[in-house]
Amino acid sequence: MSSFNGKTIIITGAGMGLGLATAKVLAGKGANLTLVDYNEEALNKAKAEITTAQPNVKVLTVVANVADEQAVKNYVDKTVTEFGRIDGFYNNAGIEGKQAPLIEYDIEVFKKVIDINLLGVYYGMRYVIPVMQKKGGGRIVNVASVGGIRGVVNQTAYVATKHAVSGMTKNAAIEYGKDGIYTNAIAPGAILTPMVAEAFKQVNPADPKAAETEYAQRNPTRRLGQPEEVGKLVAFLLSDDCAYVKGQTIAIDGGESNLYGNS
Ligand code: NAD
Repeated sequence: MSSFNGKTIIITGAGMGLGLATAKVLAGKGANLTLVDYNEEALNKAKAEITTAQPNVKVLTVVANVADEQAVKNYVDKTVTEFGRIDGFYNNAGIEGKQAPLIEYDIEVFKKVIDINLLGVYYGMRYVIPVMQKKGGGRIVNVASVGGIRGVVNQTAYVATKHAVSGMTKNAAIEYGKDGIYTNAIAPGAILTPMVAEAFKQVNPADPKAAETEYAQRNPTRRLGQPEEVGKLVAFLLSDDCAYVKGQTIAIDGGESNLYGNS
């Protein structure tokens, strides 16, 4: 894969899970990083881990809630001040919300999921795209989900916002493709991160491990995904090797989104 030496990538939700795993993959390929998260402790730990493993890589951390438009503008401005460019944007921060049937879903939680998963992703593109336009191009990877391709029982807010991410990805691709900006989305299935561990606790509070094992057995690959596997796909989509792919939502789910019935 082509090198990321001298390139700058912004990653939101970089404190743990898919954001952190992808940060490690990109740092290993030489990228300078802006790591964004609203969990300052996790962010500092992530920076320490990355700079210890890759001392030649520059890492800027910005504490920000992606649902706050001014905070998003600030992480973009700080990146431009620090590095002078934005080559790639991994627009990843998101939350699951609570699991509940559609008519029982807590409205305040629903709005919070929209603020973070939909508006947070939108604000990110709104402020990053003009910087990329000035530079003559760039690459964006938004994070949808298998829940952005199909329904998921008890997750109406999550499913609604992840379908929206897929839709916004198509629009960004068709409106800014001519400016050399590649926008795609990924649709992870169940990848073993803190967010998914929390979901298994909600499904079976007495025995989350049993819920995880049961879920893995339904996957055509018979296991959950690993965060680094997602990191490698994102690195490809942010690299110059990814050519002529725009506006796609690419599943990384062990085949799960193709499944009807049992495999
Ligand atoms: P995670 O909960 O393990 O990590 C998410 C990180 O994002 C945390 O560090 C958290 O502090 C940060 N974050 C959350 N909301 C934020 C906000 N408003 N502002 C700034 N930072 C914020 O989650 P994950 O599993 O790594 O998920 C990352 C993304 O991938 C999410 O968009 C999620 O919906 C998506 N996704 C994950 C899976 C999976 O299986 N793990 C599957 C499909 C989609």
